[in-house]
Amino acid sequence: MHDCLFCRIVRGEIPAAKVFEDDLVLAFKDIQPQRPVHVLVIPKKHITSLAHATEADTETLGRMLVLANQIAVDQGSTDGFRSIINTGRVGGQEVMHVHMHVVGGQEPVGPMLKR
Ligand code: AMP
Ligand code: ZN
Repeated sequence: MHDCLFCRIVRGEIPAAKVFEDDLVLAFKDIQPQRPVHVLVIPKKHITSLAHATEADTETLGRMLVLANQIAVDQGSTDGFRSIINTGRVGGQEVMHVHMHVVGGQEPVGPMLKR
């Protein structure tokens, strides 16, 4: 059992605004949304980061990607979205449990990276 924040959300120990759930994946609204739509899609199983992912995680990580559009559209981002996975120190990862940000809305989210 992992004591990490997102594992605690998976177990229901910390509340979250869930928007989708299946056997492998949970999606919930980011607590500090940066765009009108900002959802985090996570594996229910603890995977620390993409730097820790293994072959065994292929189905779960693939499911996260395949679900992204449906989640974005359901939340009102009907004409595309951006998906972001930050990894490790260089990637700026703050929560050490893999999560894919799905951000969007009606307007373009802007340049991919700030200088
Ligand atoms: P990252 O920098 O990629 O690790 O992103 C972590 C994200 O988790 C940030 O966008 C936070 O706003 C979000 N976050 C942190 N705690 C919570 C929480 N309890 N519920 C929902 N989102 C959270
Ligand atoms: Zn975890």
